[in-house]
Amino acid sequence: MNFRDEAHKVADLAADYLDRLESYDVLPKIAPGEITSRLAAAPPASAEPMDAILADYRTLIEPNITHWQHPMFMAYFPSVASEPAILGEWLAAALNSNVMLWRNAPASTELEQLVVSWLRQMLGLPETFDGMLTDTASISSLLAVVAARHAVPGLHAKDEGLAGRPPLRLYASTEAHSSIEKAAIVAGIGRHGLRRIATDEAFRMRPDLLEAAIAADRAEGAVPFAVVATLGTTSTTSVDPCAEVAAICARERLWLHVDAAYAGTAALLPDMRHHFAGWDLADSIVVNPHKWMFTPFDASLLLFRSADAFRDAFSLVPEYLKTPESAAARNFNEYGIQLGRRFRALKLWMQIRAEGVAGIGGRLREHMSFAQSFAGWIQGDARWELCAAVPFATVCYRYRGDDATNEAILDRVNASGRAYISHTRLHGRYVLRASFGNPRQTEAHVRRLWDLLREAASAP
Ligand SMILES: *Cc1c(COP(=O)(O)O)cnc(C)c1O
Repeated sequence: MNFRDEAHKVADLAADYLDRLESYDVLPKIAPGEITSRLAAAPPASAEPMDAILADYRTLIEPNITHWQHPMFMAYFPSVASEPAILGEWLAAALNSNVMLWRNAPASTELEQLVVSWLRQMLGLPETFDGMLTDTASISSLLAVVAARHAVPGLHAKDEGLAGRPPLRLYASTEAHSSIEKAAIVAGIGRHGLRRIATDEAFRMRPDLLEAAIAADRAEGAVPFAVVATLGTTSTTSVDPCAEVAAICARERLWLHVDAAYAGTAALLPDMRHHFAGWDLADSIVVNPHKWMFTPFDASLLLFRSADAFRDAFSLVPEYLKTPESAAARNFNEYGIQLGRRFRALKLWMQIRAEGVAGIGGRLREHMSFAQSFAGWIQGDARWELCAAVPFATVCYRYRGDDATNEAILDRVNASGRAYISHTRLHGRYVLRASFGNPRQTEAHVRRLWDLLREAASAP
């Protein structure tokens, strides 16, 4: 294969895709199994020409994905890949640098440390935070829960396991992401060991109930060890009262982990930092650049106050991983589960340089203004209602009718192929969501969603 020629063709394919993106339905009109039935069931015995492979990519794969890059993708949270960062992904693939030890990845390790510092500065967090890049918030939070567990005095779970020990208790609100529950499963806390604290009318964790739950658990002989505050919950983007939660954690000597996977990016804007008051008191924080910062999947930032807490929790250095630099250099494999790690810093470094902090921040402002416009249209139409506050760029709303009517509206909009929205359930009611966060979005796209929704609501 002539790599250079084929790489140029791939570059054209990628650029053409971004050009023709809006000609696609956001959700392809296909049923499960349809793609499989059109692909060779057995692997080819002999080499195939790259042209044939790329032709199949073009006709079978590209048109049949759900287009996360499409500006009418407004479901869940955005996860959009900006162009400079796509180029960073390509170069990282060519280098194939495995960022496990400084010795076998010197520039990649140091670039990761630099990018972590850049991101920390961009978020307005103090130098006391160090950190690393992981694949997802789910893994970042799992690592934090394990580090918190390791910090419990006298527990020695790393060596002894948890059998026969008093039960550990982790706290998060009823609105916290399912990844916290998964972390509880994997870390041996168990789903019942995760106490779900009820929220107030604005979907924020109630600190009084948190305190009561901690006291009740202590009275039963259980061992509270960590609290997760969510700044930007997945359903409504509500913000837990982090400063109050931090004060409780300090008083009770509990680890505070902040899950700001989606909304944390907004802290790039100094006038948005009031939403994050108190997160500088956390022991660990997760923010996902692959959500609202336009970094290609995957890229999650895990910040921690004590690097040693993570290293103590995870480090194992078998003979074959010993290197002369271990005292002077960071060996990232010691801070988490994975030995081999992707070189994620390159795409972030290229993106932050090519867009600038102001460039990224300007996009965030646009998306928040789209959300305010959209929320205003909802509030201005008596047939619709807003279902939660809109602190960032995600709107929860509902047609004034029953759940079935709202489900039908969502189905019609999504079946049209012209937009993709998702839903949640609030106070028992089915609620529609729209999240803006694509650099290719304009107010015209937001207006189009509003038109589609009203059309769907008036359909017989
Ligand atoms: C999206 C989200 C997660 C999970 O993110 P992954 O990177 O997909 O694991 C966790 N917490 C919150 C608040 C989220 O919005």
